[in-house]
Amino acid sequence: MPDPRRQVPRTDVLLAEPLIAAAAERLGRDRVKQAIVAAQDRVRAGELQPAEVAGAALAQLPEQPVSGREVLNATGVLLHTNLGRAPLSDAARAALLLAAGTTDVELDLATGSRGPRGRGAMSELARHVPAAGGVHVVNNGAAALVLAATALAAGREIVISRGEMVEIGDGFRLPDLLVSTGARLREVGTTNRVTVADYADAVGPDTGFILKVHPSNFVVTGFTASVDVAELATLGAPVVADIGSGLLAAHPLLPAEPDAASALRAGAALVTASGDKLLGGPQCGLLLGRADLVVRLRRHPLARALRVDKLTLAALEATLGGGPTPTALALSITVAELRRRVDRLVEALDGNGIEASTVDTDAAVGGGGAPGVTLPSVAVGLPTPYAEALRLGRPAVLGRLEHDRCLLDLRALAPADDQRVLAAVLAAAARV
Ligand SMILES: *Cc1c(COP(=O)(O)O)cnc(C)c1O
Repeated sequence: MPDPRRQVPRTDVLLAEPLIAAAAERLGRDRVKQAIVAAQDRVRAGELQPAEVAGAALAQLPEQPVSGREVLNATGVLLHTNLGRAPLSDAARAALLLAAGTTDVELDLATGSRGPRGRGAMSELARHVPAAGGVHVVNNGAAALVLAATALAAGREIVISRGEMVEIGDGFRLPDLLVSTGARLREVGTTNRVTVADYADAVGPDTGFILKVHPSNFVVTGFTASVDVAELATLGAPVVADIGSGLLAAHPLLPAEPDAASALRAGAALVTASGDKLLGGPQCGLLLGRADLVVRLRRHPLARALRVDKLTLAALEATLGGGPTPTALALSITVAELRRRVDRLVEALDGNGIEASTVDTDAAVGGGGAPGVTLPSVAVGLPTPYAEALRLGRPAVLGRLEHDRCLLDLRALAPADDQRVLAAVLAAAARV
C-alpha cells in the first residue's frame, strides 16, 4: 500500500492551478491556503482522493468576500428596514464607485488647499431646499437628533409632546436617545391630545428647543389634537422638526407626510431627517435650517464623531442631482402599468407549467414613512412553497404570504428586474 501522505498534492502546486489562483486573487491567499490545508488533511484521513483536493478546497470557499446577498424586494414595502431601506439610483451607484478611490472630498483642486468637506453634496442639498440657510449631514436621522440635542439643549430642556415620544425600531426610543445627550425632557400633553397652551406653559428660560417629531410609524385616530410647526414657532423658542422620512418638498401622493421646505417655511429653526427613506438615498441624517444653528452643530466636537464618509457624500450628491430614484419611481408607477408587468410574468410562468395568477394587493411605503397609507398594487400569486424556495435562491427574492399564496408584489421592483424575477421563479420551480 502506498503511503497516502506521499500522494497529497503540494500546496504550492495547488496554488498555481488557475481556478485556485483566481480564488486567491478574489479572496486573499491566506483564506485559500486554509481551505487547501483542510482538504489535504481529509486526504490524510482517507476521506478524499488526492485528485479531489483542488475541487474540495474550491467548494469550501465563497464566491465573493462579502457574505451579504442580493435580495429582490417583492414584499410591496418600498422602504424595507430589513432590506436596507432605499435602493440607490444608478447615478448614486456610479458615484460610489468613483468615490471608492482617492477623491477631492476635502480638497480644493483649484488652489491646492483644504476645501470644505463634501461641498458637492452640501450645495445639492442647499439647491433643493432654498429655505434652509445652512445644511449639514451626519450618519443617520438619530445622529442628527443627537447632535441637535447635544449642541442646543444639553443641561437644558427639550419640550416634547407625549404623543410624539416614538420608538423608532429594534427597541430604540427617541426619548432615551435625547436624554442620553444630557438634555432633560419636558413632556407636555397626553398620548392623544396636546394644545399650544400646553407648550406655552412649558417654554421658559431653560428651554433648549421645542421638538416636533413626526409619528412616522404609527397613526393615532379618534379624539386627537396636535400643534403644527407654525403655531409652535410663535412661542419664542427654536423649533426643531424631526420629519423622519426625508421628503425635501411636498409630495402630491403623500399629502400627510411632512417635508423639509414646508417645515422651514412654517418657521422651524432646524429640520432633521433620514437620507435612506423617501429621499431615496444612502443612510445619512440631514440637518437643514438656520445658518447660525447649523454652524454651531457643525463646529460641535460631537460632529466629528457623527461625520459621514466620502462614499455617503458621493451617493447623496448623486441621489439629489441624478434622475428619479427607484423609491420615487416605485411611488409613482401606476396600477395599470404594474398590472401589465404582472400579466406578462404570469403568462410566461403559465407557459412553463407554473400555476401563477394576477393578484390585487396593497403596498406600503414602510421604513418609517407615510404610516397608514396604502398604495394600490399588483402581485404575481404563487403556491406558498415558493416563498422559501425563492428566499433561498440567488438572487434571493422576498415576497409575502397572504391568503395562502406567495405574493410577489412588483411595486418596489424596477421594471428591469422583472426578467430576473421570472428566472428566479423558474429556478425555484425545480426546488418546490
Ligand atoms: C426614521 C426616523 C428616525 C430615525 O432615523 P434613522 O435614520 O433611522 O436613524 C427618527 N425620527 C423619525 C421621525 C423617523 O421617522
